[in-house]
Amino acid sequence: MSMNPKNEKIKSDKYKRDGAKYTCVKCKAKLFSKEDAEKCFDSHAAGETKKP
Ligand SMILES: [Zn+2]
Repeated sequence: MSMNPKNEKIKSDKYKRDGAKYTCVKCKAKLFSKEDAEKCFDSHAAGETKKP
């Protein structure tokens, strides 16, 4: 929390940092980018859980 790089301004509740990865808080999927993690979370928030 104290070692944030300059571009990480706000903490998102959509994912958690896990080392170099981002974990979706809904499905616990480990993703390699913040964008992917947010997209993953948003896909759950859209309504029912839909698995491809
Ligand atoms: Zn997810």
